[in-house]
Amino acid sequence: MEKEKNKSMKFKGIGISGTITIGKVFLYIQEPYTIPRYLTSDPEKELEKFNNALRKAIQEYSSVKKHLESDISEDELLLFTSFDLFLKDEQFKSMVENEIRKGNKNAEWALYVVIEELVSRFKNISNINLAQRSEDISAIGEKIMMNLISKTYLPELNNIPENAIIVARTISPTDPILIQHKKIAGLVTELGGFASHTAIMTRGLSIPAVLGVEFITSEAQNDDMIIINPLKGEVILRPDEKEIKDAMELKVKQEKLLLSFNEFSKNETSTKDGFSIDILGNIELVDELPSLLNTSAKGIGLYRSEFLVLQSNSFPPEDVQYKHYLKIFSTYGNDREITIRTLDLGGDKIIPGYVSANEKNPFLGWRAIRFCLSRPSLFLEQLKAILRAGSNAKNLKIMVPMISNFEEIIETRKLLKLAEESLKEANLPYCSNYKFGIMFEIPSVMYILDDIASKIDFISIGTNDLIQYLLACDRGNEKVAYLFKYMNPSVLRFLSELISKANSLKLEVSMCGEMASDVLSIPLLLGMGLKRFSIPPSLYNMINKLISMLSMTDCQNLLKEVISLSEASEIENIVVPLLKKRAPEVLEYCHLIK
Ligand code: PEP
Ligand code: MG
Repeated sequence: MEKEKNKSMKFKGIGISGTITIGKVFLYIQEPYTIPRYLTSDPEKELEKFNNALRKAIQEYSSVKKHLESDISEDELLLFTSFDLFLKDEQFKSMVENEIRKGNKNAEWALYVVIEELVSRFKNISNINLAQRSEDISAIGEKIMMNLISKTYLPELNNIPENAIIVARTISPTDPILIQHKKIAGLVTELGGFASHTAIMTRGLSIPAVLGVEFITSEAQNDDMIIINPLKGEVILRPDEKEIKDAMELKVKQEKLLLSFNEFSKNETSTKDGFSIDILGNIELVDELPSLLNTSAKGIGLYRSEFLVLQSNSFPPEDVQYKHYLKIFSTYGNDREITIRTLDLGGDKIIPGYVSANEKNPFLGWRAIRFCLSRPSLFLEQLKAILRAGSNAKNLKIMVPMISNFEEIIETRKLLKLAEESLKEANLPYCSNYKFGIMFEIPSVMYILDDIASKIDFISIGTNDLIQYLLACDRGNEKVAYLFKYMNPSVLRFLSELISKANSLKLEVSMCGEMASDVLSIPLLLGMGLKRFSIPPSLYNMINKLISMLSMTDCQNLLKEVISLSEASEIENIVVPLLKKRAPEVLEYCHLIK
């Protein structure tokens, strides 16, 4: 960070998605506060304060609901209904009244005690549907408390001005601010790494974003002018005239280059020397499907199904899930390949009450298939919903995340059989000719690949997790982001061995982690023998162009040249000149020309 007498300030962060964007700061930060506690001699006054704060909270939720009604799904709206029911609950009100009248507590203190009591009661309920309400109760309690102590809660989402660049300390991948993606011009956060799920969401929703920008929230003020350059990972706060002029010029240049990639939107992909390559799309939300349909992608290589659950903050019943998956098949068609990944919850994808945020090492803990197999009835509902929705699909693939052993594969296959049997019994049409595969994310699976190959139809390499486990480097932590390097020789050697092994076992192998769309990595991956790349749809044209400009011979020679080098920078210094020769526009767009 450079500070120039309170004028323009430059920050460095991790560029995630989009081109240069100029806008105005919209702070999305919770102010710190303390809860006043005292004994009152005027309980009526305290009761009135509480009732006013409660009424205000009801109005606020209702206006947010009204505002979002046309933008969000019925499931998401249900959340507001449950908030409303709670706020109007007589028992809740009488508990607070009791604390005020009998305990002589002031309104804030009384509210605090009651919310704590309810949260702990709900947390201890064994029915997980009810247990997960404890987080909702905390959130509602906080909202009333903000009204009581007249503090600013997180800013109202319907007040987002035009051209707003959201500046936050952190946001979760399902933060309501992301529902407003059409209204926000950009996003800057202090926390978060390149492969975090927040990053994946912003890429999917095409929000220009720079994450991991230290100190930005303490320096930025609402309405400050701000420039973000995601391709360089740069942020300029309160830019001067020259910086604005330079940014505008650069923006025109970036957009021109981006437009020039459009000619690659509709052609099938092959290398310059004629090797056919499959590009598929990574999808988190159904909203992203039209952008994939605008390309000639082979299919969906990764549908992150957990986002349905995360958005509704609870597990929708089988029927709701079925309708959701049906929407994918009807929008994207039954002929093309559609890979649905089963729920990958845990890690940074938390559902209060179901998957907790309190694990010491959430990325090493109760995640993905581990969670699903310990909740077989929930898992079965998802499998049935997928199979039903895909009853006419010709190319359905079911993919399981975080597989670490043989038994998890056998257990999942058993549940799939069970799902088929129960649909058959119920006389419901379903898909029985699907392919079954796993995400390759845990390094040790390399050593059992021969054993499991006969039980699966494909693997898809999830480099976001694989690299975090291989290098012991948290994918979402900006402090160690400098270690999360695709050009790290261990990463390249591991992948080269894995892809060769899968190819020699005749096991279909693709890559759906973010590395599959990394410009420097692509020639090396092609050289390793990778033929299937699943990437964010927004990058399709550029990646298609890049692959078309490369020859397989070049890529194989490049790999041979770099695979024994010991430093990432040496490798990069050899890859960049080749790309500069073969695909200068792509390299220029990515600002990689040195
Ligand atoms: C991965 O780990 O690379 C992956 C594609 O899965 P996710 O990013 O959703 O964990
Ligand atoms: Mg993963």
